[in-house]
Amino acid sequence: MPVLILRTVTLDHAKIALKKVFGYDTFRPLQAEIIQAVYDRRDVLVLMPTGGGKSICFQVPALTQEGTAVVVSPLLALMKDQVEGLLANGAPAAFINSMQTPNQTRDVEDDLLAGRIKLLYVSPEKLVSQGFQPLLRRLKISLFAIDEAHCISAWGHDFRPEYTQLKFLKEQFPDVPVLALTATADKLTRKDIAAQLQLQDPAVFIASFDRPNISMAVRPGQKRFEQIADFLKKHPGQSGIIFCLGRRTCADLSEKLNARGFKTAFYHAEMGSQERNRVQEDFINDRVPVICATIAFGMGIDKSNVRFIIHYNLPRNLEGYYQELGRAGRDGLPAKALLFFSYQDVMNYRQMIEDGDAAQEQKDLKIAKLNRMYQFAEAPVCRRKTVLHYFGEVYDRNCGNCDVCLNPPRQFDGTTAAQKALSALVRMEEKAGMHMLIDVLRGSQRREVLQQGFHQIKTYGAGREYSFEEWQFLLSQMLHHGLIEIAYDEDSCLKLTEAGQAVLYNKQAVRLALPPKPEEKAAEKAATLRPPSRTQTLRDALFERLAALRRKTGQQQGIPPYLVFSDATLEEMAQKRPLTDADMLYISGVGERKLQLYGNAFIEEIRRFVREKTSEGHSIPGNTYLLTWDLFREGRPLEEIARMRAISPVTVLSHLAAMYERGEQVDISRWASPEAIDLVQGALPLFEEPYQLKDIYEHFEQRLSYESIRFAIADAQRKKWLRQR
Ligand code: ADP
Ligand code: ZN
Repeated sequence: MPVLILRTVTLDHAKIALKKVFGYDTFRPLQAEIIQAVYDRRDVLVLMPTGGGKSICFQVPALTQEGTAVVVSPLLALMKDQVEGLLANGAPAAFINSMQTPNQTRDVEDDLLAGRIKLLYVSPEKLVSQGFQPLLRRLKISLFAIDEAHCISAWGHDFRPEYTQLKFLKEQFPDVPVLALTATADKLTRKDIAAQLQLQDPAVFIASFDRPNISMAVRPGQKRFEQIADFLKKHPGQSGIIFCLGRRTCADLSEKLNARGFKTAFYHAEMGSQERNRVQEDFINDRVPVICATIAFGMGIDKSNVRFIIHYNLPRNLEGYYQELGRAGRDGLPAKALLFFSYQDVMNYRQMIEDGDAAQEQKDLKIAKLNRMYQFAEAPVCRRKTVLHYFGEVYDRNCGNCDVCLNPPRQFDGTTAAQKALSALVRMEEKAGMHMLIDVLRGSQRREVLQQGFHQIKTYGAGREYSFEEWQFLLSQMLHHGLIEIAYDEDSCLKLTEAGQAVLYNKQAVRLALPPKPEEKAAEKAATLRPPSRTQTLRDALFERLAALRRKTGQQQGIPPYLVFSDATLEEMAQKRPLTDADMLYISGVGERKLQLYGNAFIEEIRRFVREKTSEGHSIPGNTYLLTWDLFREGRPLEEIARMRAISPVTVLSHLAAMYERGEQVDISRWASPEAIDLVQGALPLFEEPYQLKDIYEHFEQRLSYESIRFAIADAQRKKWLRQR
């Protein structure tokens, strides 16, 4: 086995790689610590939510250390996506998997052996296969990264048997650090990962699972279709996924939405693989914004600009829910998660679990998790707080970005209301489900009510003051408080508990909550419909233009648009309007490679936009030097530019100096002689930035002109940032 000779690498190298390759200025929480642990050759276990930035934790060490990092990834699509993303940033990466032709594989092997590849992605099957071992032994391996490491654990929810064979890594390569990464939090799984991979005294990093940019909301499942149509209307063109339980629901929902004029497609495991690929590609490439899909969809997609996740059906547990909604907003921009809740779903799942042939212990675990899921959906408690507590994280405030925080339910003394419901239940001999109970309380004339003679009981119609939805809300809280329970083995009839009897017979008080009033919702609506400011409108318009250019560029390059630039990067461009290479490099997400490949096209688009808007009479702050610059390039003399733009010649010069400083070509010898430049630049260390022209002017006892000082400074700055590159 070749010995890997390490030169000392430090976080400084890591930072430089982060900026140059990925275009990011700072590490996200824990990234630097994790990278340092890898540099210290330790085994590492990383728990970070989806979108937290796990990839950087092994990509940066891979790029800064000698040798090749071997990355294990369970899904082909994910592999392809990551490798394309790395290549788009100019980082040498490749994958080996079963979809390649022998020739392609051989090319990759040649590159590997020649040391041309810093990151190699492989599937677990491939990595453990006999045929792969000779190659593996000939490589200089800097680290192993095991992505989606929870797949190794039978306790996790994505168990993959082939992962369990990965323990051979530590046996065969005891000195190579292993980095296990996952977004699944529970303790059991965590311990299992470390044990199965035989990690040696691993450094464990647990990031906060909070995803503050994703707003969370739960809505009752009635009229789901209308609610979704309404939602899509308010989010035109945005990328999103609607998760449904069954393949029929996926297809039907998509068809109905399309009939309403929305552009959607569907995806489920029973479609042919070609068909599935097509849908996935359409989504990734922003050709179809919305996909109705089973939860299999999106696992292997790193698409960073998914703006919303809708759960048409209740997820089976909070782990699943949180992982699925985490596919939104990876770029850190605001995103939405909307969950529809219905008892029917709970009952269906229960049935499915009961009917399954798992061991009773497993069934109990699943049911306990399902219960936590629906308690989450029903409790009038900050959603984020509930989920994060579930994952064992302390979160002692209210988030302000969920439906409960934004529209707090109205607490009241619910004793009388509870008694009405409980009394009706008793009078119906506990032989009614929730729907029937509410109908009776509201005095419904429905045939089934009359047939059973429920219209003759004393509490018939005693609860008309609450709507059907309000009663649902109240009854589910009574379930939580344990006043009633659902007899799943008796057609889901409701039964009185001891606590319920205490309320009914001993007048034990209960506090309940009602959903927010409709007028409060109206206020919320009005707030969101406030017309956007003028700056915002301009920004949005430029964003659209840049997004179109991004789509075109992606097409030309054969990669998904979000790998050209993320939404977050485009947003920043739309806000800051970089007009030169130097400006562009300040934008987060623009590294060297992307500047080189796409910089000009995007700068041109922004310049075009600015010129256009200015000629339409908009004043665009900060960009007036572009207009000066355009006139200057037409060869007009300074005085004429000043006259045309109604600014002073000094201002014109300051604009030109700004453009020169950022790398544009200007013949500055007209204003500053080489000697003057040398003099000024020699004296600059005496002054503090930002430099004041006047101080320097005085320093040289007024012997140098203001222009020469101005351009000497611009020249110094220009050299500085060119050097930095
Ligand atoms: P995960 O694998 O944890 O789900 P990713 O590694 O895909 O998350 O990262 C999510 C997004 O955040 C990606 O678009 C990535 O480029 C971006 N990102 C990661 N680290 C940083 C950082 N330090 N600064 C800015 N963006 C980052
Ligand atoms: Zn909240």
